[in-house]
Amino acid sequence: EPASLMTRPGLVIANFGQTLLVEAGDGTSRPCVARKSIGQAVCGDRVLWQAGRGDAHGAVIAIEPRRSLLARTDARGKSRPLCANIDQLIVVTSPAINHSLIDHYLVTAELLGLGAVLVVNKMDLADETQTMKLRDEMYGYRAMGYELHQVSARTQRGLPELEALLKDRTSVFVGESGVGKSSLLQALLPDHEIRVGALSEASGKGRHTTTSTLLFHLPHGGDIIDSPGVREFRLWNIRAAELAQGFREFRSFLDDCRFRDCVHDGEPDCAVSHACELGKISLQRLESYRAILRALPAEEYD
Ligand code: GDP
Ligand code: ZN
Repeated sequence: EPASLMTRPGLVIANFGQTLLVEAGDGTSRPCVARKSIGQAVCGDRVLWQAGRGDAHGAVIAIEPRRSLLARTDARGKSRPLCANIDQLIVVTSPAINHSLIDHYLVTAELLGLGAVLVVNKMDLADETQTMKLRDEMYGYRAMGYELHQVSARTQRGLPELEALLKDRTSVFVGESGVGKSSLLQALLPDHEIRVGALSEASGKGRHTTTSTLLFHLPHGGDIIDSPGVREFRLWNIRAAELAQGFREFRSFLDDCRFRDCVHDGEPDCAVSHACELGKISLQRLESYRAILRALPAEEYD
């Protein structure tokens, strides 16, 4: 069998529409096109592939089972994969915390079976009042079991701790625009711009970088997958009944509501509201839950 037809394992490190960049075991990467029959391969996918002859694109012939998947639902309601095999969401915020947004990301992580870490960036800008308020807010998230880090991309504060928690895992940075995700990536990957250029060069599609998804190996270990779509990824197709499951500290109360279909939004004998009155669930989280609930698309009943 000629070497070009040998089937070998690889990792998708970039997807630019039809063209995928597959990294082989030796660290080199080749542009490939996936066989139609295998479905859409995305960044983070472990695949089997064959190199093309000469300069020709290689062929991805199989996608290995995924341990997780971020997918978006398009306008027609069809699910479109964004990236695969993520272990954790790094939820980035500024010191002025937008609770309902953070909680939406935490729910996303819970429902997809991913870890979640809260990263408060721009700590160099936090004044005394904000720092005090943050201390209370962080105490609450830590009590729920979430890891929380205060960092500054500008002064590099907290970056070694962040590096340690990105090690040996595949992560994505999510959060509002302007909180400093690009700046953090830049701080963690000093040659970030160069690598983006190199990846798009290798795919032969340099112009499409803004819409493509890329995987970066961090110098201290671990991978980051990044694209504009990934940064703003949120689950919207959550069913009301599932939403409360995504609030981890609500779970132990959910069986005790009077109504089996209770959505904890003012029903009588609601165990979640009761737990909140007793201080076992924070009012902030319950309000966050209700804000997300009311923003969910109306469910279709049959
Ligand atoms: P993104 O939209 O989340 O990717 O945010 P950017 O990384 O583009 O950052 C938005 C703005 O915040 C830029 O002007 C950054 O220079 C600034 N910024 C990012 N991180 C920090 C930080 O830790 N401290 C301060 N003071 N500014 C920061
Ligand atoms: Zn209830």
